[in-house]
Amino acid sequence: MADHDDAERDSYPKIDDKLVERITSLDDEAAQQRAATLRAGLSDYDLEDDDIDVLDTDDFDPDAITYLPALPVLAIVGRPNVGKSALVNRILGRREAVVQDTPGVTRDRVTYKAEYGDRRFTMVDTGGWEPDARGINASVAAQAEIAVDLADAVLFVVDANVGATSTDEHVVRMLRSTNKPVILVANKVDDTRQEPEAAVLWSLGLGQPWPVSALHGRGVADLLDHIMTVLPQVSAVAKEEVGGPRRVAILGRPNVGKSSLLNKAVGEERVVVNELAGTTRDPVDEQVEIAGKVWRFVDTAGIRRRMNLAQGADFYASLRTSAALEKAEVAIVVLDVSDVISEQDVRIIDLVLESGRALVLAFNKWDLMDDDRRRYLEREYEQDLAHVAWAPRVNISAKTGRHLEKLVPALEVALESWDTRIPTGKFNALVAELAAEHPHPLRGGKQPRILFGTQAAIRPPTFVLFTTGFLDPGYRRFITRRLREIFGFQGSPINVSMRVREKRKRT
Ligand code: GDP
Repeated sequence: MADHDDAERDSYPKIDDKLVERITSLDDEAAQQRAATLRAGLSDYDLEDDDIDVLDTDDFDPDAITYLPALPVLAIVGRPNVGKSALVNRILGRREAVVQDTPGVTRDRVTYKAEYGDRRFTMVDTGGWEPDARGINASVAAQAEIAVDLADAVLFVVDANVGATSTDEHVVRMLRSTNKPVILVANKVDDTRQEPEAAVLWSLGLGQPWPVSALHGRGVADLLDHIMTVLPQVSAVAKEEVGGPRRVAILGRPNVGKSSLLNKAVGEERVVVNELAGTTRDPVDEQVEIAGKVWRFVDTAGIRRRMNLAQGADFYASLRTSAALEKAEVAIVVLDVSDVISEQDVRIIDLVLESGRALVLAFNKWDLMDDDRRRYLEREYEQDLAHVAWAPRVNISAKTGRHLEKLVPALEVALESWDTRIPTGKFNALVAELAAEHPHPLRGGKQPRILFGTQAAIRPPTFVLFTTGFLDPGYRRFITRRLREIFGFQGSPINVSMRVREKRKRT
């Protein structure tokens, strides 16, 4: 939320129509040439290998545009208290002490970005939700099932000191019915004397048990080396499917009307296929034709699966949100207009922003709207959702079917923005205009200069600025704002990052 406060403090000049005109009517070729000169000037600066990569993805070769590859996903599952969170901490290399998860305490965060060597991957930590002892078999398995749905590989953690319990066996049955690779981890093997206990776990039929001590780090490097041989380079779960239907996640807190929306969409329109030809891996998605176009709604099984466990319901919901986001290109966040916009709504939207997916806001239950509530809603919208004022907004009723068809143009606009590439010439012309219009404040008598800028990626549009000094966050927000004012980007988050580079010393 800190960003909102800062945004309020920022005061920028209002954009001048002439500037918009100049940028939009630019002679592309001349601008491109000018950008090429700026770019050539970068050779006087100390650049890193990664800078060269960014500069090479530039539109001097439009085919070179990269999609940020979907990182492979590793899920950790297992009974309560086997040490899942400790292992997650260890893998993430967190410095802080391992915090024992308190059962029933909700953690919003379920997925984390992890690194090992030069490999990056996403981890799904199910450790934040420790189910009740009652019905534990079913709930551990149900929880594991969602995590497995979204994973490319699974770490199944067993406490070597306790051995395999009936709950473990329950989960094993579920794991064996999926065709995801499973790595069996025997945790709490703090020294060699305990290794025979780990070896007993061969009997689970999941192959070699990997003895580790998450707490002390013992065996974790070997385990990680092995994980890297199992995890694909690019996620198969969330991979780009060129030319396929676009992937939509329906998100929102419980009872806002997600399943009603889905049922209405599916019920009134033809469900094209339930199971995609040739792919058995995703029976959890559904393809639906709306307004003549086929869409793929991801993880509809997760929406339909009603959550009856009182405890852990929130965690289950955030797990679903993260899982669906990994697979989706665009999210429809459903809000219930008969209720105040809550912190939970905002958190879900923030997860979408963090994931870099395109965003559409669906204000549902519009049939319940009256004038009074409407006034409050507008106020709440301005107060809590100002940071996503760029997201298309559709007022719908899943119950009556009101304006559901308007979701389609909203999704299309959002995806188009998400796919947008601004030519380097245009972008650098804009950067030059902005430096003239509103120069960066002096810092210690010096003024950081932007040497060159490029859009390094789409999905979402990601801009990189090469600078001679640190640009204030406020100044970066100014640039972001101007980018939106000129190019729109309706429905897509955009990122502007900077790389401060020094002039190469002459010898
Ligand atoms: P989910 O938990 O987000 O999937 O929410 P549901 O689809 O189960 O809906 C929760 C409740 O809200 C149910 O009682 C629905 O009938 C009701 N509901 C859903 N959409 C609408 C709507 O557009 N108008 C009204 N009045 N009720 C709705």
